[in-house]
Amino acid sequence: MKYDIEIVLKKLSLSKFRSSFSLTSKDIEYINNKGWETIKSHAADFVISRLVKIDLKKDGKQTPFRGHPVFIAMHATATCCRRCLNKWYKIPKDRDLNNQEIKFILTLIIKWLKKEVNNSL
Ligand SMILES: [Zn+2]
Repeated sequence: MKYDIEIVLKKLSLSKFRSSFSLTSKDIEYINNKGWETIKSHAADFVISRLVKIDLKKDGKQTPFRGHPVFIAMHATATCCRRCLNKWYKIPKDRDLNNQEIKFILTLIIKWLKKEVNNSL
């Protein structure tokens, strides 16, 4: 898979549903307090535990809508479940995610979060 992150972010910003997600001032404060290295490690934990293996019965419900800025980013970037990953990025649903896909998802989440934080300044 080859996706240009900036083009993907642009496409997401044109989606009414995806662009409806944004960070609260509390989320931004949380990121500033924790620092990017911690946020990246949280994102990796969430992606690995919620998305790598597909559970068809739970898919679509594994990512909460609040509680952590990374969850918001996952909804905003269509990386919230395997169905959305398939629809937006053509990632097959019948196998585990590979390392390249995990890396793409994490880069996208962090880029989106950084944009949100920068826009709030
Ligand atoms: Zn989803």
